[in-house]
Amino acid sequence: MTHAIRFEQTGGPEVLQWVAVDVPPPGPGEVSLRHTAVGLNYIDTYHRSGLYPVELPSGLGVEAAGVVTALGPGVDHLAVGDRVAYAGGPLGAYAEARTMPAAPLVKLPDAVGDEVAAAMMLQGLTAQYLLRQTYVVKPGDTILVHAAAGGVGLLLCQWAKHLGATVIGTVGSAEKATLARAHGCDHTILYREEPFAERVRELTGGQGVPVVYDAVGKDTFMDSLACLRPMGLMVSFGNASGAVPPVDLGLLAKMGSLFVTRPTLFTYAAERERLDQMAAELFDVVGRGIVKVEINQRYALAEAAQAHRDLEARRTTGSTVLVVA
Ligand code: NDP
Repeated sequence: MTHAIRFEQTGGPEVLQWVAVDVPPPGPGEVSLRHTAVGLNYIDTYHRSGLYPVELPSGLGVEAAGVVTALGPGVDHLAVGDRVAYAGGPLGAYAEARTMPAAPLVKLPDAVGDEVAAAMMLQGLTAQYLLRQTYVVKPGDTILVHAAAGGVGLLLCQWAKHLGATVIGTVGSAEKATLARAHGCDHTILYREEPFAERVRELTGGQGVPVVYDAVGKDTFMDSLACLRPMGLMVSFGNASGAVPPVDLGLLAKMGSLFVTRPTLFTYAAERERLDQMAAELFDVVGRGIVKVEINQRYALAEAAQAHRDLEARRTTGSTVLVVA
């Protein structure tokens, strides 16, 4: 018997319940894990609220680090006792222990601790595909990153800077601006106080940027398009302020033959070979200290509801870990 967060109906953070659960023995292709740390991600709030539909009752969470305690038949890339982490698989990472498919599990190198792994797998693999695959950031590029002081945001700023880009970042407060600048963001814009598209035009001498990374969604989508140079790429990868309403494609022509993509990590990391390459690159930049994972909040796993309240109220910065007792 172990404990996990479950919910029987979608809604606010109050629907999350801390309950006793069984950990079934692993079936074919599965492993059992004892979690050491669990990652908090914005997507967890979409599953909880119902923005992304889930089958109820449900577990929650898509990211954790831990130790393999049992292997099901056919699992040959892991052994009992291995330190592992994952981003993906069925919901249910908010648990002290669980049984799950082995497919998303990656072995952790010694240089990457469990808390850092739990904090960075989802956000870090996302930064990898956004900067290195969706749009390949090159030296000399000037790019726009929204919510630059957030979990994904701070990783994007540091990694893009290392790739030779000039980073413009939007942030919700002066404190967040200071934090983003300390992590490679060259120019910060307080987008709750000033029109960010105008500032981006000023900062780029009227040119606009080749790519915008926007996971704020509803509140920023249209103005983000206005920040792009002709044939620029709008990467809409999240909905922190709500889902983006349908877009008139004709607008993309009028605004300069723009491209729009709506990517998700779960497509990019679906194939084992690509996932291993992405993880190796992430572990490399973190291991060499090029990208620092800032764990700025910790909550007991049983207190996940409070973590959700703070995340949704924009009270967090960097990454957040749910601590397993
Ligand atoms: P963050 O730590 O970035 O938290 C979200 C931030 O969004 C807030 O801190 C806030 O920063 C900003 N924000 C702007 N408007 C709002 C609003 N109305 N309500 C709440 N927050 C708002 O979270 P994560 O790093 O976990 O995720 C960032 C985004 O990336 C999310 O949208 C998430 O869904 C997306 N994502 C997408 C992935 C994909 O593959 N598609 C994978 C991983 C994450 P500020 O105060 O500075 O405005």
